[in-house]
Amino acid sequence: MPASTQQIQSGTALYWARDDLRLADNPALCAAIDTGRPVTALYILDETTNGHWALGAASKWWLHHSLQSFAASLAKLNIQLVLRRGDPAKLAPALAAESGAARVFWNRRYVSAEQALDEKIKSSFKDAGIEARSFRGNVLAEPWEILTGAKTPYKVYSPFWRELRTRLSDLQPLAAPGVATKAKKRFPSDALKDWALTPSKPNWAKDFPDFWTPGEVGAQKRFSDFIDQDLDNYARGRDIPGEIHTSHLSPHLRFGEISIRQAMKTILALRDDANAEKFASELGWRDFAYYLLHHFPKFPDHNWRGDFDAFSWRNDRKHLRAWQQGKTGYPLVDAGMRELWATGYMHNRVRMVAASFLIKHLLIDWRRGEEWFWDTLVDADLANNSVSWQWVAGSGADAAPYFRIFNPVTQGERFDAAGAYVRRWIPELAKLPDRYIQAPWAAPEEVLGAAGVMLGKSYPAPIVDHKQARERALGAFQSMSKSRSVGVTA
Ligand code: FAD
Repeated sequence: MPASTQQIQSGTALYWARDDLRLADNPALCAAIDTGRPVTALYILDETTNGHWALGAASKWWLHHSLQSFAASLAKLNIQLVLRRGDPAKLAPALAAESGAARVFWNRRYVSAEQALDEKIKSSFKDAGIEARSFRGNVLAEPWEILTGAKTPYKVYSPFWRELRTRLSDLQPLAAPGVATKAKKRFPSDALKDWALTPSKPNWAKDFPDFWTPGEVGAQKRFSDFIDQDLDNYARGRDIPGEIHTSHLSPHLRFGEISIRQAMKTILALRDDANAEKFASELGWRDFAYYLLHHFPKFPDHNWRGDFDAFSWRNDRKHLRAWQQGKTGYPLVDAGMRELWATGYMHNRVRMVAASFLIKHLLIDWRRGEEWFWDTLVDADLANNSVSWQWVAGSGADAAPYFRIFNPVTQGERFDAAGAYVRRWIPELAKLPDRYIQAPWAAPEEVLGAAGVMLGKSYPAPIVDHKQARERALGAFQSMSKSRSVGVTA
């Protein structure tokens, strides 16, 4: 039953917050406030829709703090953030009914199960005579807007980016809205602490606050610091893990604390040089990942290239554990895995090397690595994570070829020559001379002794030999069934 004009005019507005925990450039929130009616905001902790891709542990830590910050910002606009836990298909209509909402607003998302749920909820609102409107709040372009000349999805980044780039000149991010009409009532809400999103025994996230300030204020500060201090060196410096030249915006973007449109518009308006263009194109990769996830929804769990289904991965728990704990004996890989554990983040170059090591040196299924990153990254993002893992494996769209096997030692020598990154995360190697910092096993006994390193005791000996592992990987990939057709399994 369509809503009557009188119903719409007298009803309140409901804004359903999901991956958009910000005031600035939040189209759904602005539309709710623009109704001129009292606005209630809702956040639902939904642990079932995405199956085993429910929020990981580090993301939960982030969410806790982000919600705290968002609730405070909304309160200043006269908006209560109501927290509920469970099935959105029941909870969103329930709060709409309780609050007398005639209109409901949200920003769209791109995981297929969430899209299906949103469609279902939209039609149930329609049946109840409530107007439900969704907006583009989390991507630069909707995935269905960008297609090849043959009206098929792009599978390669460069032509996708060329097309997306032409659409970036008229981005119009919205300013943060003014206050909403004061509501007469408050509604029952869960207490955030009862959701137990932060760890306690043990509190493995105890050092996270040294690295991160979740929330919109933290996101904006991070962005302006990046522009002031790091952008000048971005194109060259983004590959050097021992120096800070990247934005560290990824968790803020993941939770929508800063809008991708605002970030893109600011960078492109700021200047026209290689650093700005490189950063813009990295932001573009995020849209490409969302794009692929929309068009090929099986990306997180299935090889995009069908021939990889025939690959026989090794199920080696001991090696998986060594990788997770940063005890492979390869300093660059181990430093990355320890950075991840300590901060919920890992530098992009090291993510590539560590992922390649798991898949190619250890021949462990990329999905095991994807799951570990999912649980431990504060920026864990189903699109970026799955697309990146399949890129490294060689099983994805526009992927690195399977024979590209990163050598963790030469990668270290190239991007962390003086070992600043390794020394920071593996203090037991800190006293080794530069020459051996990426390959301690190559150091003479007296050098190890002088640096206080006891291989196999204070730091592990390599769990595999690089040359042998490389040959084993090449052999395994080559013998992968060639009879299988190479194609999209989604
Ligand atoms: P910057 O270099 O400052 O880039 C700015 C923004 O651009 C990032 O915040 C991110 O939103 C986007 N971006 C940059 N590189 C990529 C990329 N390759 N793919 C998609 N978006 C990109 N990124 C995530 O946000 N979540 C993940 O779960 C994730 N998992 C990854 C797993 C693997 C195996 C690899 C190799 C990469 C993964 N990435 C993921 C991509 C990338 O490593 C991070 O986005 C980046 O390191 C974040 O740091 P930053 O914000 O300082 O990046």
